[in-house]
Amino acid sequence: MSQRVVHYEIDAHYDEAKHTVDATEVLTYHNLTGQALDHFPFHLYLNAFQPKATWIREAKNAGTRDEVIDKWESKFYGAEEIKSFEVVGQGDLTSQLQFTQPDDGNKEDKTVVDIHLPKAIAPGAFVQFKIAFHDQFPETLARTGWKRDFLLGGQWFPKVGVWWQGAWNCHQFHAFTEFFADFGVYDVKLTVPQYEVVGASGVEVSSVDNTDKTKTVTYHGDDIHDFAWTVSPRYRARDGVYQGQMGPIKLRFLMQPAHWDQAERHESITRETLDHFEKWYGPYPYKTLTVVDPEPDSAAGGMEYPTFITAGTSWFAPKGFLLEPEEVVEHEFGHQYWYGMVATNEFEDAWMDEGINEYTQVKIEDSIFGPNTSVLNQWGVTAGERGLQHLGYASVADLDPIAQKAYEYYSFNSYGGITYAKTASTLLTLEGIIGEDTMQKAMHAYFMRYRFTHPTKEDFLKTIEEVSGKDLRWYFNQAIYGSQVLDYEVIRMSSDPTNWYEEKKGKKKEKEDDKNVVYQSYVWVHRKEDFVMPVEVEVKFDNGDMVREHWDGKSRWTRFDYEKKAKIVSAEIDPDHKIHLDRNNFNNSHTMEANPKPARKVGNYWLFVTQWVSQFLSWWGI
Ligand SMILES: [Zn+2]
Repeated sequence: MSQRVVHYEIDAHYDEAKHTVDATEVLTYHNLTGQALDHFPFHLYLNAFQPKATWIREAKNAGTRDEVIDKWESKFYGAEEIKSFEVVGQGDLTSQLQFTQPDDGNKEDKTVVDIHLPKAIAPGAFVQFKIAFHDQFPETLARTGWKRDFLLGGQWFPKVGVWWQGAWNCHQFHAFTEFFADFGVYDVKLTVPQYEVVGASGVEVSSVDNTDKTKTVTYHGDDIHDFAWTVSPRYRARDGVYQGQMGPIKLRFLMQPAHWDQAERHESITRETLDHFEKWYGPYPYKTLTVVDPEPDSAAGGMEYPTFITAGTSWFAPKGFLLEPEEVVEHEFGHQYWYGMVATNEFEDAWMDEGINEYTQVKIEDSIFGPNTSVLNQWGVTAGERGLQHLGYASVADLDPIAQKAYEYYSFNSYGGITYAKTASTLLTLEGIIGEDTMQKAMHAYFMRYRFTHPTKEDFLKTIEEVSGKDLRWYFNQAIYGSQVLDYEVIRMSSDPTNWYEEKKGKKKEKEDDKNVVYQSYVWVHRKEDFVMPVEVEVKFDNGDMVREHWDGKSRWTRFDYEKKAKIVSAEIDPDHKIHLDRNNFNNSHTMEANPKPARKVGNYWLFVTQWVSQFLSWWGI
C-alpha cells in the first residue's frame, strides 16, 4: 500500500459534441512532508496545446512523439481552465492563482499554476481544495484528446505537484516529457451519453442512467497516481479474469470492431506478460486492468496510465510497417510496474520508466517469442527487441547521457535513443558483468523495495550494487552519468613464418603447406572511443586451436602475440555478444580471408534497419 498522500473526488460531465468537460474536484492532501507548506503548485497539462506554449515550441524545434504540428490548426487547441478555487477554511482564492514557468520562463506557458495560502498547512495535517474546472480536449496529441467520436481523457484535471527530495517538483509540460504524481485514492464520476462504452483507471463501482439520456459511471482506485478514461460508442468489450498472486484481476479489452479478431491476441499477450512480471519482479496488486484499442489514426495509441493502457493494432511506425500489437501491449503493461508502482520522476529520470521498461521488455519477449524473433520476423530477417535497442542507441550514442532531464535532450531522436535504447543496452551489458540471475534478483529487489514510492537514480543503482555485492561505479559513471561511447575494434592481424628469411623463390607454396612451419602471429585490438570496458577476444587458428584473451581495455590499444605451428584465421572481440553497448559491432571481428566480412550475420540488413530505426524512433514514445 502507498502513503496515499492525495485523495481526488472528481465529478465530471462530458460534452461529446464539443469535446469538453465541466467538473468539480475535491482534493484532500495529507501533508507528510515533515514541514509546513504555504504554497501548492498544480499541473494544468491540457494548456500545453496552445501555439505559444512550451510543449508546442519544443515540438516544433526538436520533434515529438506525435506528428509534429507543422501547421497550427485550431483542432489541436487544448485548455484546462480553473473556474473557481477554494481552500477549505481559508476561503475562495481563485484570484490568487499564478501561472509559473519554473523550467524555461516562457510567460506564455500556462501548464503550472501556483497558489499561496494565507495560512500554512502544518506537518501531518490535511488540507482540502475545492476546484471547479473546464477542459477543452485537443484532437489527440501526446496520448490525450478526441478523434471523431472517440476520446482518451488523459492529463485532464488539475493535479498537485509532488513534494520530492525536499522541494516541490512540478515541471511544465514539455514535448518529450511524461508525468509525475503522488499516490492516493481516486473517486471519479463520469457523466457521458448513454450510448458510450466507457473504460477507466480503477474499478467500476456503479453505472446509473440519468433522465437526460446520459449515464453516470463511478470509478474507485486505490494506490494509483493518475486517472485516465476513454469513451467510444463503438468499442466491443472482451472480458477475462487472470488469477494473480494477490487475487483475481479483471481484464477488459476495449476493441475497435474492425479489430475484433485480434482481441484474443491482446488477451494472450497480456496474460503471458502478467505471468512473467509476477514471477520475475513481483505481484500485480490491482483488481483490474483495462487494455484499450484506440481509434485508428489517433495519437492515442501506446500509452500507460494506472491499471489502464492503450495499445493500437493499426499503430504504424514508419509507413508500411505494422508494429505488432504484442509489442505495444507488452510494453505498456510493463509500465504498470515501471511507472505505475515504481513511480519515478518521468520529467527528470525518463530512463527509469522507459529504459528499465525496455530492458524488461527485451527479457520478456525473448522468453515468450525466443531471442531475436519478435520484431522484424515478417520480412524474412529477424531482429528482436535486443537488436532494435542497439540500433536505436548507436545512432545517437555521443549526444546525451542517460542521467539527464528529459526536456534537456538534444532532440527527440536523442531522447528516444538514449532513454529507451541506451538504457536497455546498458542493463543488458550489465548482465554480462554481474550475471543474468543476479540482475534478475536485483530487479526483483528494486521492485519490492520501491513499489508505491518515488525512487531516485541512486536508489536503483545502489540496489544493483548491493544485490551483486560489486562496486559498479566505474561502469555507472560511464554508462549512466557519462556520454562516453564504447567501441572496440580488431584493427589488424598478421601471421608470418618465423623462418621467413629462408624463403626462396618457388618454394613458398611448399612451405605454406608444411605443418611444421612455425608462425609468428599478432592481433592488434584498439579502443576507438572513450568508454573503458574489459573485453574478451577470441583468436582462432587454422589447426583448430582457439584462445580466449582478457584485456582490461584501458590503454588505447593492445597486441596479442603468438608463436605456433598454425596461422590465425580470425579474431573476435566479445565473442559471447555480452557487450550491447558497443556502438559498432561490425569492427569487432576480423578474418584472414581475401574478402574480410563480419562474423555476425546481421550485417546484411544493417543499412536498411538503421534507416528504419531512425524513422521509428521519431515515432517512438510508447
Ligand atoms: Zn513507454
